[in-house]
Parts: sequence; structure tokens; C-alpha cells
Amino acid sequence: MPEVLGPVGGRQSGERTVRGVSASPDVVIIGAGMVGAACASYAARAGLTVTVVDRGPIVAGSTGAGEGNILVSDKEPGPELELALLSQRLWTELGEELDPASFELEPKGGLVVAETLDGLRSLYDLAIVQGARGVRTMAVDAESLPHYEPHLAPDLAGGVHYPQDLQVQPMLAAACLLRDARAHGAQVRTGVEVTGARRDSNGRLAALLTNVGPIPTESVVNATGTWGGEVSARLGAPVPVLPRRGFVLVTEPLPRLIRHKVYAAEYVANVASSEEGLETSAVVEGTDSGTVLIGASRERVGFDRTLSVPVLQRLAAQATRLFPMLASVSAIRAYRGFRPYCPDHLPVIGADPRVPGVYHACGHEGAGIGLSAATGHLIAAALAGKEPEIAVSAFSPLRFVEEAA
Ligand SMILES: Cc1cc2nc3c(=O)[nH]c(=O)nc-3n(C[C@H](O)[C@H](O)[C@H](O)COP(=O)(O)OP(=O)(O)OC[C@H]3O[C@@H](n4cnc5c(N)ncnc54)[C@H](O)[C@@H]3O)c2cc1C
Repeated sequence: MPEVLGPVGGRQSGERTVRGVSASPDVVIIGAGMVGAACASYAARAGLTVTVVDRGPIVAGSTGAGEGNILVSDKEPGPELELALLSQRLWTELGEELDPASFELEPKGGLVVAETLDGLRSLYDLAIVQGARGVRTMAVDAESLPHYEPHLAPDLAGGVHYPQDLQVQPMLAAACLLRDARAHGAQVRTGVEVTGARRDSNGRLAALLTNVGPIPTESVVNATGTWGGEVSARLGAPVPVLPRRGFVLVTEPLPRLIRHKVYAAEYVANVASSEEGLETSAVVEGTDSGTVLIGASRERVGFDRTLSVPVLQRLAAQATRLFPMLASVSAIRAYRGFRPYCPDHLPVIGADPRVPGVYHACGHEGAGIGLSAATGHLIAAALAGKEPEIAVSAFSPLRFVEEAA
């Protein structure tokens, strides 16, 4: 249960500091997943004193249970695409500044394929409008598909190549950005669960309440992904974030036969849909370690962790349709994770005027790895009182309040 949000000050008399946390950091970032790590890195680089807290170890949430695609290809024109383009640029810069091999940054590019001519026409239409927003696209006819992916099924209608799509290993990437934050003075404390917040007499945030004691601070960033709804309520500034389950099937290691992130045209529609029931579309990619990752399923079943063999069978069948050679390859494991889902599929990023001092950076659904760099950049700008690099109103936490009114 949330602790009382009473109008009292920061540190109360007799309260002790939390071990390993400086007396009153400029900002406490809640969540040591990919998004929290990016917020920490950019905020620390901006010269703020930063403390990151997580109730578990680092990458205990969705970051440790997903894939690491950084995609512009699956975004329709609109605020999410603008965020993705900014993120793509920032990830490329991070790759130049940090050690890209340490988080397996790979500019592998995406290849979206269509089975039918109608499907291909829709893909080309999307590519044209994305191109107008600055996405680089290349139409690929059926004859040229084998030049991109020699093992694709021979009867596909064609596709679109997206050279800007990148890939990282998400756990290593989050660890790398947390290391970068620490190199810029940030502290990272695990095993600290946020239970509430304390406000001053003006209603402004004064301290974060945790299982190990209060942390006085004037700013917190809610970077708790799928738990962003629960934590935002504890902070007194609720936003609606729900889990959307997804499975990934992992094959035995193979020679690097699949070069790009390859996915079927239906994937874009599935990403944008609000269906509660099961949706699957083929997403296949090779990795440096040789395993092939096969997704993607989406369903809203709460935090149910039960492994579903029928879902895995469907993923395997769809992947084999794209790459027939996978039929003779063994799957060695499967895992599941929960995408942080907001009803309008957009993340919540920025200050929450309902509780001055509270900022949100959560609800990125199936794109939190990709969008983390831009999110961290925008949050650091907001904390430092700077102009954001792109328009942020679509990500406002107040959009749900206005909808509900
Ligand atoms: C199957 C699958 C495939 C995916 N593939 C991709 C992909 O290819 N590309 C992509 O961009 N995205 C992908 N995603 C989505 C991506 O994984 C998430 O959007 C992203 O990991 C969210 O990161 P986060 O830092 O916001 O949240 P998380 O990684 O979940 O981190 C939140 C942290 O908050 C902590 N926390 C929660 N409550 C509290 C509390 N009360 N106090 C303190 N700490 C707390 C948790 O312990 C956790 O460590 C995929 C997801 C799934 C499930």
C-alpha cells in the first residue's frame, strides 16, 4: 500500500540517511532497467547528482526479458516515429562514445517482407510516408530478396529494407549506461523498493519513501516500466500502464545465416493494435552468439507467467514460413516478458504537474530499448530546464486525466 502523501517536509528530525545514497540527490531515478539507465546517464552527463534505485537487481524487469531492436521501420508517422528517429541518432552517438562491442550494438538493418502483392503495396505506401519524415527506406522486389537474405522462402512478394534499424543486447546496454552514469558521479542502489512519496506544504515532492528509509530529493523519475502504473499511484500521480505479455523462442546456435531483423508485414499492425487477445506475427533475427530469436506474440493476460506451448508453436510455424530451413533446427529455450502498455501505445515522458517534482519515463510497450536513449535525453533536458529536442505534448501524463474528465 502507498505510504501517506502528507504535506510534510523532506528529512524529518531523527531520520537517518539511506546507506549508499548521498544526502539529497538532485534526482532519484526509480528503476534500473534500460529506460532508467538512459535517464541516469543523460542526467548525470548534464551535471545533476543522480541516484538510481531498484527493488531488485539491475535489469530485473522487462529489459531482462525482451529483445534489443532499435527500430524506425515499425513506426507509423507521428510522435513515436519522431522519438524513434531521435533515439536512433542518439544510439549511434552512444555507440561512438562508449564501447559498442560491450553491448553488442549492431547496425544490422531491418527487412520487412510481404507474402502478397496487396501486402507489398501497403508496405510501399508506409515506406513512402516514413520516407517523408526522414526514414531511409529501400524497396526490394521479389527477385532481390535473396541478395538480402539468401534463406528466405522463395515465394514472397517482396519487401522494404530499413538500413537505420539497429540492435543491442539490452541487458548489456543497460549495464553499460549505468556504468556511464556512475562514471559521471551517479549512485546505483539495488534492493530499494519505493513505497511512497512525501510532499512539502506546497504539495511539491520532498522525499521518496522506501523500504530502507526516506530519500530526500526534489525530483524523481518513474522509470519502472510495466510497474509504472503502480509506482505512479504511490507517488500520487497515477498513469495507466498495463502488462502485455510476449514470448521469444530461441534456437540452437547456428552459423550466421540470418543477417537482418526480418519480419512480416502484419507485425506493424499487431504493434499498433489494442486487442486483448493473442496476436502473433513472424519476427526472426540471428544474433552474434549464433542463436536465432523468434517472436513476436502479444496478449493482455496480466502478469501470468505460464509458458504457452500453443503460442510457441504458432511462432515457430510463422518463422518457418519465412525461413523454411528453420524447420530442421531445434529450439533450445523460450522466455517471456511483459511489455509496459499504455492504452494509446505511446510512452509517458515528462513532468507531472499534479505533483511538482515527479517525472515519468515509462510505458514504452515493445519499444522501450529502442526509445530509451531519446527518453533519457528528454528527461535530462526537462530536469535541467532546457527545451526538448522534439515536441513532447503527445507523451504528457495529463493526457489520461483529460481523457477521463
Ligand atoms: C518479448 C519481448 C520482446 C521485446 N523486444 C523489444 C525490442 O526488440 N526492442 C525494444 O525496444 N523493446 C522490446 N521490448 C520491450 C522492452 O523490453 C521494454 O519496453 C523495456 O525493457 C522497458 O524498460 P524499462 O526500463 O522501462 O522497464 P524495466 O526493464 O521493466 O525496468 C523497470 C524496473 O523498475 C523496477 N521497479 C518496479 N517497481 C519498483 C519499485 N516500487 N521500487 C523500485 N523499483 C521498482 C523493476 O525491478 C525493474 O528493474 C520487448 C519486450 C518483450 C516482453
